[in-house]
Amino acid sequence: MNALLEQSIHGLHASYLDGSRRPTDTLDECLAQIERTEALGAFVRLDQAGARRDAEAADERSKRGALRSPLDGVPIALKDNIITKGLETNAGSKILEGFVPPYDATLVTRLREAGAVIVGKTNLDEFAMGSSTEHSAYGATKNPWDPSRVPGGSSGGSAVAVAARQVYGSFGTDTGGSIRQPASLTGVYGLKPTYGRISRYGLVAYASSLDQAGPFARRLDDLAVLYLAVAGFDPKDATSHPEAVPDPNACTASGMAGLKVGLPSEYLTEGLDPEVESAVRLAAKWLEDAGAKIVPISLPHTRYALSTYYLIATAEASSNLARYDGLRYGPRAKSTDLARTIVESRHQGFGAEVKRRILLGTFVLSAGYYEAYYARAQKVRTLIRRDFEAAFQDVDLMLTPTSPVPAFELGARLSDPLAMYLADVCTLPVSLSGLPALSAPVGLSSAGLPLGAQLIAPWWQETRLFEAALVFEARTDLAQRAPPAAYAADSS
Ligand code: GLN
Repeated sequence: MNALLEQSIHGLHASYLDGSRRPTDTLDECLAQIERTEALGAFVRLDQAGARRDAEAADERSKRGALRSPLDGVPIALKDNIITKGLETNAGSKILEGFVPPYDATLVTRLREAGAVIVGKTNLDEFAMGSSTEHSAYGATKNPWDPSRVPGGSSGGSAVAVAARQVYGSFGTDTGGSIRQPASLTGVYGLKPTYGRISRYGLVAYASSLDQAGPFARRLDDLAVLYLAVAGFDPKDATSHPEAVPDPNACTASGMAGLKVGLPSEYLTEGLDPEVESAVRLAAKWLEDAGAKIVPISLPHTRYALSTYYLIATAEASSNLARYDGLRYGPRAKSTDLARTIVESRHQGFGAEVKRRILLGTFVLSAGYYEAYYARAQKVRTLIRRDFEAAFQDVDLMLTPTSPVPAFELGARLSDPLAMYLADVCTLPVSLSGLPALSAPVGLSSAGLPLGAQLIAPWWQETRLFEAALVFEARTDLAQRAPPAAYAADSS
């Protein structure tokens, strides 16, 4: 593996500025690494021609001293539920086979304006429903730390592309944990910003009141560059927020001095892997060493989060997915009857997990059950949010595990949906509350698997997440250590 692939985005930018590197060289390195580690299945589609064209344009700009941003000429990847003009987008589903979007998502427009080179689209659980990237119509993605294990999900492809040094950064989406959990399982940083911080315009909708896009990176300075390039108000998204976006590049680890960090007791109980627990406690100690005060707190409604999430997310999914009729893309069934064609096409086009969600969501919204399930779930959602509101009266930040366990074996949870749903038990309450959270790598298990910690900040306080994570980054080089599979088939 070439040392260039270990560069930071700022380091790459500096080498473009002094002329010692060209964006096309970087692209070549990335494409070679993608080929070398292809067996991990991170990408569903490469856009070699588009990436080459963009890298050549960046070459020109760098020669003229006209680079647009630190991201100019930097190869990145996008989860395949973020739509890209002219580049097929399937969201892991057969029902979107052949769908070539006529426009870019706002976050893609912003990345292109910054000069980023979009190398391709990464694998995900179908419509982002899942926690292992095994529910994809295009095959499973594997964990570069141990390819017999899952990378987490649903943004598994984006996490692996970064962990395996295929690209310098990537974007995923997080509805209940889909950025944070795969980041944790693959040993990289993953940020889910406050709901409304990054435009949802052009994301393939799963559960609109929860969906939020965000970046993956191997270093916090890279994460900051990626986040800043796309964050901020977008008139095309009605839930986008006009709040100013403070610059996380200005953060330092000294920001932790005097801050109070809550450790919610509900997250450190049964079902937690002991190695995950000790990694989180060690991370708390690091924050303490950096001048923070660690206090135990309680978020009493946490135990309702899983059921609340699966009522609300499936209800919204059943409504969002009603638009797929199979008439324009995907496997159109052959019938002369329109209703039959649609029913059959949906039957063939959706995978089993998506069907399960549509059925559940339709049920909880149906007459007679709406009040008992959906309306009640909305009330409990408010109670969960109020837990956080109350706790943040007293603490500045919270620290929890990201995932209760390290990466599990491929196939281990496929036949048990509830076991799969439990993978997100630590991330779901944050999503229901719309809070910003960051997963940071804080250790390796005895089996050599990454262990992650989740930092949770009050609404719009992403910079606080960076301040605390900088403390971790100074204490562990984990995210900067390449996983074994990054060297696969590499003779050098
Ligand atoms: N695993 C959760 C689900 O399947 C979360 C997925 C996500 O955040 N997109 O709904």
